[in-house]
Order: sequence, then structure tokens, then C-alpha cells
Amino acid sequence: MKNFFGRIGNGFRNFMIGRYGSDDLGRFLMGILLILIVASFIFRNPILQGVIWVLFLYIYFRMLSRNYAKRAAENDWYLRKTEKVRRFIRIRQRRFADRKTYKHFTCPGCGQDIRVPKGKGHVRISCPKCHNTFEKTV
Ligand SMILES: [Zn+2]
Repeated sequence: MKNFFGRIGNGFRNFMIGRYGSDDLGRFLMGILLILIVASFIFRNPILQGVIWVLFLYIYFRMLSRNYAKRAAENDWYLRKTEKVRRFIRIRQRRFADRKTYKHFTCPGCGQDIRVPKGKGHVRISCPKCHNTFEKTV
């Protein structure tokens, strides 16, 4: 039985050779797809069902595509369009992760996220990006 699954695994690997596979855009669309599938259990709507099928086929078309350059260009476009949102989420996650040891500030000059160890009292902060200075209590 182990050999059987091993053969399936090898077959799948061989099948995927030269194909594009998964990327950030693919994972994002997969997330949207899952949300729509859950929504379709609540709202039984034929248009929603259609959208789910089109999205499903598009996700698999991209994964199985052999046109690597075009799929990579689509992914680059997605990454550029979502840069600000992804940066916002990344900063929030980091702020939450080290909330006990660091205090975060946004530079009034350039908007850079700056973290300062907590408990240092009143400090003068110099922005590493634009060298603007401002004072805060941490
Ligand atoms: Zn700055």
C-alpha cells in the first residue's frame, strides 16, 4: 500500500514538471474560493455557484499552465497591487508579536514603522530611513 501511494506521488511529481504550480496569487484566489464556497452554503445563488466554478477552473488553469512567464507576470501584478495592504498586515502582525517588549511608532516624516524597547522612559527617536527625530515616552 505504501508503494502504491509512493507511485501516485511520483506520478503527480512527474505530471507537475514544467508546470507553474502555486504562488501568492494562487493562494490568495484559493482563500477567496474557500470563502465563496462557505458563502454558497448560506446563500444558494446560481450566480455565486457560477463564480465559484470559474474561479476554481482559473486557479487550476494557472497551476497546470506551462506558460511560466505569463503566470509570473500575473503574480507580480498581484504583488504590486496588494503591496500596501500586505505591508499593513505585516506591520500589525509584528507589532502584535513583540507587544510586550517593544513599543512601535510611525515616523511623522516618512511613515516608517519604528520599534523602541519598552521601559526606557522619555527618548529621542531618530528615524533610520529619513533621519527625522521626534520624542516619545516608552
Ligand atoms: Zn522617517
